Amino acid sequence: MNVAAILRLKGREVLTASPDTTLLEIAKMLRTHRIGCIVISAEDGKVAGIISERDIVREIASAGVKALKDQAETAMTKTVVTCREADTIDRLMGEMTAHRFRHMPVVERGQLVGLVSIGDVVRMRIAEAEMESAAMREYIATG
Ligand code: AMP
Repeated sequence: MNVAAILRLKGREVLTASPDTTLLEIAKMLRTHRIGCIVISAEDGKVAGIISERDIVREIASAGVKALKDQAETAMTKTVVTCREADTIDRLMGEMTAHRFRHMPVVERGQLVGLVSIGDVVRMRIAEAEMESAAMREYIATG
């Protein structure tokens, strides 16, 4: 199973915002869409950064609620680890575990084409395990 299989199931829509969006606006987007992160995109459509609920909490913890007026680019992670559609789910799990983050933008030819979260990866892993056990039961019953 690979990233393309996840995108086929969940779709390719990714919520993005520009670097000058305030942290309050980002927090509202996270709440409205019930998600954990927003990709910050540059004018050319390339990924400029990523901002998750953790980044917002960190800013509030160090500067207080006034941090919500700051722009996303002050709090976002600028070195974004991305993946490709052909990458395996095992590879993504390895990256997420090693870097301790829960989201990976999918980029093809420099353009954002999707986003995979740890939730998507776990759901896909469970579906895979269920298919394997059903096949094993079928094999035992008919063997
Ligand atoms: P998360 O676990 O995804 O909520 O993010 C935890 C931290 O990692 C936050 O500081 C994010 O900005 C950062 N982060 C999340 N996803 C990525 C990624 N794909 N590449 C680099 N940093 C990330």
